[in-house]
Amino acid sequence: MRTRFYNARILTLANGFDVQYGEVWVDGNLISYVGESKTCDERKTLEFDREINANGNLIMPGFKNAHTHSAMTFLRSYADDLPLLDWLNKQVFPMEAKLTGEDMYHLSKLAILEYLTSGMTANFDMYFCPDDVSKASIDMGFRTVLSGGVNDFIGETDSTLNLLEGWFRKFNQHHELIGYRLGFHAEYTCNLSLLKGIAALSRKYCAPVFTHNSESASEVEQCVNRYGMTPTVFLDSLGMFEYGGGGYHCVHMTDDDLRIFQKKQLSVITNPGSNVKLASGIAPIKKTMDMGINIAIGTDGPASNNCLDMFREMFLTTALQKIKENDASAVDANDVLYMATVGGSKAMGLTKCDTLEVGKLADLIMIDLHQPNMQPINNITKNLVYSGSKQNVKLTMVNGKILYENNNFYVGEDVEGIYQKANEIINRLR
Ligand SMILES: [Zn+2]
Repeated sequence: MRTRFYNARILTLANGFDVQYGEVWVDGNLISYVGESKTCDERKTLEFDREINANGNLIMPGFKNAHTHSAMTFLRSYADDLPLLDWLNKQVFPMEAKLTGEDMYHLSKLAILEYLTSGMTANFDMYFCPDDVSKASIDMGFRTVLSGGVNDFIGETDSTLNLLEGWFRKFNQHHELIGYRLGFHAEYTCNLSLLKGIAALSRKYCAPVFTHNSESASEVEQCVNRYGMTPTVFLDSLGMFEYGGGGYHCVHMTDDDLRIFQKKQLSVITNPGSNVKLASGIAPIKKTMDMGINIAIGTDGPASNNCLDMFREMFLTTALQKIKENDASAVDANDVLYMATVGGSKAMGLTKCDTLEVGKLADLIMIDLHQPNMQPINNITKNLVYSGSKQNVKLTMVNGKILYENNNFYVGEDVEGIYQKANEIINRLR
């Protein structure tokens, strides 16, 4: 399949934030041309299956949702406005225990539909049943990096480690749309020998490790009481981060914690929507950025957020820093746009689909500029972060295939069937 986008504004993010005018060609799953408009003569030898007049709209790399729990769609707006631990222990954990693999397949599909409407072309998904979760992505044509989320509740430590190693080996050879990173739920849900075992796996495979880290003040306090160290210092002391990785949330970070992130080249994956809704706090993103640490943005799961929307996360990322720093210049729109695209790709190991360049994977979106909230065009990247919304996402392409265009989904099945399944599942579990 060959697709040509012409008459387009293009933000490649390969070299700064300048927007150029021209065309983008996609051949199979790869970008084959980005640049100035071509005349009929110049492209006459090329046959395209589809030529799309972008009508001056913006083509840019897709957003990367760098932390989520997709299948938690069933808990959206099921248990809100509760303190974090009540929400987790009384509502989330008992309901999750009743889920089947097939449930997770259907519930993940619902999340993927929502990602597509928000211009996301990949997710970094921590959940159970990777077979079912990856099948949902493959069946819909979506790109997913699975993140290990093991904990003490899965079983004996040795068998959990075997499971994690098996998943790591399997899903890194599984399908072109799927990847797998070592990881665990959190320090506070994993015993010491499990954590030591994961660190050993990281060293065996020279592989990065990801986990929920310092999401709440009480989590940090408990870790200090247990081990005499913050989660970051403690995990680093086990040799967890010798091959990189990162932390989800990273709200309550000390200077020592951030220096470890800097030294070990770890990524901070910020989840501002979830952090404000669960009253967890505001992550020190400006400070993290000033230290040169890679930052990515994730929605977290639909049970805590409840919305899987990168535009809302981008606005919160910058707005919360302006409040925290008491400085309206803190973390500007371009910084945030970079985190939501290239920063996410870096954290997830998706450096082949981070920018629009020849030879990169065709994971891209078209933003409709012909809407009131995008006019006038003083500054497109500021419009995206400060006034943009998912209503502006006109098209989402993953791996060279258009999965969403003009409010229609092209994911191989009727979306009403996916909505119905999700409702059936929550009605059965309730
Ligand atoms: Zn999470």
